[in-house]
Amino acid sequence: MEKKNIDWSNLGFGYIETEKRFVSNYKNGAWDEGALVSDSMITMSECAGVLQYAQTCFEGMKAYTTEDGRIVTFRPDLNAARMEDSCKRLQMPVFPQDKFIEAVSKVVEANEAYVPPYGSGATLYIRPYMFGSSPVIGVKPADEYQFRIFATPVGPYFKGGVKPLTIRVSDFDRAAPNGTGHIKAGLNYAMSLYPIVTAHEEGYDENMYLDPKTRTKVEETGGANFLFITKDGKVVTPKSSSILPSITRRSLMQVAKDYLGLEVEEREVYLDELENFAECGLCGTAAVISPVGKVVDHGKEICFPSGMNDMGPVTKKLYDTLTGIQMGRIEAPEGWIHVIK
Ligand SMILES: *Cc1c(COP(=O)(O)O)cnc(C)c1O
Repeated sequence: MEKKNIDWSNLGFGYIETEKRFVSNYKNGAWDEGALVSDSMITMSECAGVLQYAQTCFEGMKAYTTEDGRIVTFRPDLNAARMEDSCKRLQMPVFPQDKFIEAVSKVVEANEAYVPPYGSGATLYIRPYMFGSSPVIGVKPADEYQFRIFATPVGPYFKGGVKPLTIRVSDFDRAAPNGTGHIKAGLNYAMSLYPIVTAHEEGYDENMYLDPKTRTKVEETGGANFLFITKDGKVVTPKSSSILPSITRRSLMQVAKDYLGLEVEEREVYLDELENFAECGLCGTAAVISPVGKVVDHGKEICFPSGMNDMGPVTKKLYDTLTGIQMGRIEAPEGWIHVIK
């Protein structure tokens, strides 16, 4: 199979249309078989549930080439399970988890020419999503839904080396205490656009959102969970029912414990204890971990000892170990690497 002529290491994070996508429709209470199709366009009612009341959720994962040339995805079972949680919370039908994993494999295989080669730093980003497609005007769930998966090649996250981020404490809230923060809903992102655009305009890379009830505890950013390293090398991650359960973060916590022998703790993390930490990172599928060098809380700067030039030493070890597991250089825990071919 011949790869596409793409300058993999200079790819950005943008949409590039690939050849095939998976589409399945839900109608009369059941999903159809689903199929790979070539048409990237969607035609639906002007009154579709997704257009009127934002009934939609998504997942994000990637396929990539390992050191020994296999094409794999990382823990797709957890994406399937999380999408089930998202669908249930939004009154959407669940796409069966085994079929989800199968469909991901089909899309990757059908677009094999777009799976970047090992060592390029690029990956094939996979986007499963679902939306209410039938007309809805009185507020209620749609009767019909579409589940789709497309794939698009994306470049290495850290082009030209790692650069620690500067983030600000946001005055906006990401998720209500008993709202939808724990599911991957498009609506959580729509409301984060104003805070992120203004953050960028003011020179910050990301927003740190606090718990909306007390505004004293750290939640997450718009699209990544926090990890903190204490001065004595313990790995701490915030605990809250309104944080999206990042698969990367859960994997890193396990790597910290089982591979690096570090103490790990999921607990409430207060804003006023940030200055005690040695390192800070953001975790998500795209970057695995992005180091944070500085948090700015309304003019007060909290600078982590790891500084503004490099990843902190523990963050780096976590990053190297998890990416080593993903790329097949380090033996993976049972079930983490899903081989497509
Ligand atoms: C997707 C997402 C993450 C990261 O989750 P991963 O499974 O690690 O990619 C973190 N926070 C939010 C709000 C997200 O939507």
